[in-house]
Amino acid sequence: MPDPALATAHAAVAHDLHGRWDDLLDAALTYRTWWLTEWPAGGPYVPGLLAQDVQEAVHAGADPLWPLCPTCRDHALFVEPDLGADSFWVCHRTGLPVAEVGKLPG
Ligand SMILES: [Zn+2]
Repeated sequence: MPDPALATAHAAVAHDLHGRWDDLLDAALTYRTWWLTEWPAGGPYVPGLLAQDVQEAVHAGADPLWPLCPTCRDHALFVEPDLGADSFWVCHRTGLPVAEVGKLPG
């Protein structure tokens, strides 16, 4: 079984991906598994970091607008805080949180 922090992060980001780009998620999870062994206290940060890792990979190869801002519909949301617990997808234009990482509407 993976570390509970990794399992939580994986479930959250898998939800937000709505079944797409499993390969990118798996690669990011492998990296964060290593990262967490180097920084065991970083567990609460893993969902936000994993979401950012996956977003970077999706932007590079698949969809530069994932996840699409449901308000503006012309840009991607981003994760705040960069490094912290309780991460949210945020619209940079309004500055408002849209959804918790792992709770992005379909
Ligand atoms: Zn927006």
